Amino acid sequence: MIQAKNPMHVDAAHLPDARGHFGEFGGRFVPETLVPALDELTAAFHAAMADPAFQAQYSELQASYTGRPTPITFARRLTEHLGGAQIYLKREDLAHTGAHKINNALGQALLAQRMGKPRIIAETGAGQHGVASATAAALLGQECHVYMGSVDMARQRPNVFRMQLLGAEVIPVESGTRTLKDAITEAIRDWVTNVENTYYLMGSALGPHPYPLMVRTFQSVIGIEARQQMLEQTGQLPDVCIACVGGGSNAIGLFHAFRDDEAVDLVGVEAGGRGIASGEHAARFADPNMGRPGVLHGTRSFVLQDSDGQIMNTHSVSAGLDYASVGPEHAYLRQMERATYTLATDDEALHAFQMLCQLEGIIPALESSHAVAEAIRRAPTLPHDAIVLVNLSGRGDKDLDTVLKALE
Ligand SMILES: *Cc1c(COP(=O)(O)O)cnc(C)c1O
Repeated sequence: MIQAKNPMHVDAAHLPDARGHFGEFGGRFVPETLVPALDELTAAFHAAMADPAFQAQYSELQASYTGRPTPITFARRLTEHLGGAQIYLKREDLAHTGAHKINNALGQALLAQRMGKPRIIAETGAGQHGVASATAAALLGQECHVYMGSVDMARQRPNVFRMQLLGAEVIPVESGTRTLKDAITEAIRDWVTNVENTYYLMGSALGPHPYPLMVRTFQSVIGIEARQQMLEQTGQLPDVCIACVGGGSNAIGLFHAFRDDEAVDLVGVEAGGRGIASGEHAARFADPNMGRPGVLHGTRSFVLQDSDGQIMNTHSVSAGLDYASVGPEHAYLRQMERATYTLATDDEALHAFQMLCQLEGIIPALESSHAVAEAIRRAPTLPHDAIVLVNLSGRGDKDLDTVLKALE
């Protein structure tokens, strides 16, 4: 058995309270029928994390199947071009299935197996989490059903086909705007009905307790590795860690290991879409009119909503950042001033996408390009010995059609 290089743990120093609150955010806003299921899940998660056999099983798969640890790459030409801080990339794009989502999908699928739940359900927007879930389910021989809005299915044909090839059933959702938020609603409905034999595999650091804690823990491998790798390669910690924030899982996965390193700035980048003034964006924190605390999909966080509390339609060139709420721990980190949040517009992300292609030979996901855009903005303002670490959450092969259309 391959030794766990980076044993994961549930960080006792930064736990939410017993009901899953991160300060005034998080919690559990669910139908009464789901409370026992969430209690069972919470207990099973903590028991698994305390079990060396579960840790070993997860670490072994992360090494032999996902391809962890993913490397750190010094972006030499981008750094020289910008003439400021040194830019390093954490290469989650090199993980199996091409993004960080597999870290969480594998962890939760193993947990489902341990809990004796043979049926996995998941929701997906762009299809990336659906593909990661279908992958993990295929590996472990589980039945997998993925809820997906019919509008998203039409937009993301290749991912629908991928999920089907991997043996999953993709269930079209025809309610509401027929996109991600409606798919989550349907998945929760399925779970309420079939909770006896069904595991709900949530895709980001969202939803009712214990999901935000659980997803953070499975994604924390990103930051644990990156922190050690930066110390080995540069002899110091980065000055700034930057990650894009959709639901917030790749960002919390990077940030968590640096949480107590107070000299390290943590910067999350939201989707600025066509700009705040246009109203077409997914910047929950940056829009002072529409972004306010509220409850969506079982958790309290910042939510884009109109004055009646109706959830706003969002827009981003990157499907993975296109969601009206954000993980509750990010709302908390922002309120505590431990992390700051900024945005990159569609145009800035597309520009960053092209720069990384041409200067580094890396085609990044459009989501990750938002983080790169912030590094491009920030690096020239910093001294040459400063270090900026960017989480490259995924590869851009899935985005080629979108980029082609946008550049025409
Ligand atoms: C899904 C996705 C994201 C956004 O999700 P988070 O939970 O915020 O990480 C970012 N990057 C890529 C490549 C994705 O697939």
